[in-house]
Amino acid sequence: MLKSFRAALALSVITLSAFATSSAFAAPLKVVASFTVIADFAKNVGGDRVNITTIVGPDGDAHVYEPSPADAVAMAKADVVLVNGLHFEGFLQRLVDASATKAAIVTLTKGVTPIDFKPEFADADAAEGAGTGSGKTVTDPHAFQSIANAKIYVKNIADAFCAADSAGCDSYKANAAAYTAKLDGLEGEVKAAIQSIPQAKRVVITSHDAFGYFEHEYGLTFLAPEGISTESEPSAADVAKLVSQVKQDKAAAIFVENITNPRLIEQIAGETGIKVGGTLYSDALSGSDGPASTYVDMMRNNITQIKGAILGS
Ligand SMILES: [Zn+2]
Repeated sequence: MLKSFRAALALSVITLSAFATSSAFAAPLKVVASFTVIADFAKNVGGDRVNITTIVGPDGDAHVYEPSPADAVAMAKADVVLVNGLHFEGFLQRLVDASATKAAIVTLTKGVTPIDFKPEFADADAAEGAGTGSGKTVTDPHAFQSIANAKIYVKNIADAFCAADSAGCDSYKANAAAYTAKLDGLEGEVKAAIQSIPQAKRVVITSHDAFGYFEHEYGLTFLAPEGISTESEPSAADVAKLVSQVKQDKAAAIFVENITNPRLIEQIAGETGIKVGGTLYSDALSGSDGPASTYVDMMRNNITQIKGAILGS
């Protein structure tokens, strides 16, 4: 029994090495992407040479995601693991430890200029307890909401794939260049859309602060009751404070997000009299049949929703 197993193993090793010598049959690079936006970038850069497993799937919330045993298996087998970093993936260190993966963990926000986030609403109670009257400053992890930053993610992915698979490097670099040109076009579309909105109307509400980099890059103000993570529920006082601020600022539109419960936004919409303008994709893409199954479609969907709701109001 053992003998025949060994024979079978030996045979499969011979078969594998026979395949490995022919580049036409080179096994694809096993890539784990922490969430859908990164998986989409990796697909555009890697093409047929990579096989991608995504940890947090469509419409998933990476802040509060609980990894499964299957995630640990994928991590253990991976050649390259691509992550956002800046504490976006709350589960990351636990999963790396549990899987004992030997793969390179590549942080795609390397080279991005981080934005500080000072909570206006979230954790207001804790801040009052500390006697400061304001929340503590933390780094905003949602860097991918700026297309300029997306281009940095793409370059980092190409570099990581080149390091793991030098034979494919020319292909990765060519794919990255072609996709970056697409992102340049997308950036132009987003800027033109914002320009078409009157300055005084460039204020919208979402449930959590996922759009700080978008705001910084394109000049649209986002107000949100939940802070940069979805981990903590906002208090009644936070919501009341937002409602009163909304009334003063005359926010032009209010949106639910694909990753969060719409209840809070519906409550604020009810109290402020602003109609819910639609769904913004914040921290995850949609499924393949949804309106935001790629990064490019996500940005287009968001800007179309924002423009439509503001100009239609
Ligand atoms: Zn988020």
